[in-house]
Amino acid sequence: MSEIEKARQAVLARIAAASLAAGRAADACQLLAVSKTFPADAVRRCYAGGQRAFGENYVQELVEKVAALRDLADIEWHFIGPLQSNKTRLVAEHAHWMHSIERLKIAERLSEQRPANLPPLQVCVQVNVSGEASKSGCAPEDAIALAEAVAALPRLRLRGLMCIPEPTEDQAQLASQFAKLRSLQAELAQRGLVLDTLSMGMSADLETAIAEGATLVRVGTALFGARH
Ligand SMILES: *Cc1c(COP(=O)(O)O)cnc(C)c1O
Repeated sequence: MSEIEKARQAVLARIAAASLAAGRAADACQLLAVSKTFPADAVRRCYAGGQRAFGENYVQELVEKVAALRDLADIEWHFIGPLQSNKTRLVAEHAHWMHSIERLKIAERLSEQRPANLPPLQVCVQVNVSGEASKSGCAPEDAIALAEAVAALPRLRLRGLMCIPEPTEDQAQLASQFAKLRSLQAELAQRGLVLDTLSMGMSADLETAIAEGATLVRVGTALFGARH
C-alpha cells in the first residue's frame, strides 16, 4: 500500500468513527482530498487507491492538474478557494464543483460561462461563520438571500453551504461555528430550498464538523502531508 493510501485509509477510518459516534451512518460524510500544492503524481497515487474527488484552491493549478490527469475519466474536481471575477471562466470550464461562492456576481458569471456541453456546475455558498472581518464567505445574515438567488441561476446547481471556521482550541466555540452553517441549511429547507451538502471540516477538526452534520470534509494535510 502506498503512503498516500495508508493515510487515506486512516482518514476514512476517522470519518467513519466520527459518523458512528454522532449516530449517523458510517458513510454519511464524503472525503474531498485537497491536493493543492501537491503534484499531479500525488493525485494519481491517491486516485489509484479509489479516491475520486479532489479539491484545489488556485485556478492555475486546477487547470494544470485537470490537463495532466485527463486520462482519469471519472475524477471529480472541486474548486474551494477564493475566486476573482476575471478567473471564473476557467473554473466554469474545468471544475465539477465550486464551494466558495460568496457573492452573486461570481455565481452569475459561472452560470453564464458554464459550457453548454457540460452538466450544471455544482455549487455551495460559502458563509463566514466566524464573524471575523478578514475571513472569506458571505455574512450569515446575507446567506439566505444569496442562496436563493444562486439557486435560480440556470447553469448552476446549488448543493449546499460551506464554511471555514476560525481556528480555536475551544471545542464549544468551534462546534457553534459549524452549527451555524447547519442552522442556515435548516432555515433554507423551511423556506422550501432543500440542500444536501454541508462542506465543513478539515484535517484538524473533521470530527467536530461531522458531529455537527458535515456531509463532506475537505482534507489536505492528513492525506498528503504538510504543505510548503
Ligand atoms: C487547504 C484547505 C483545506 C485543507 O486543509 P487541511 O488542514 O490541510 O486539511 C480545506 N479547505 C480549504 C478551503 C482549504 O483551503
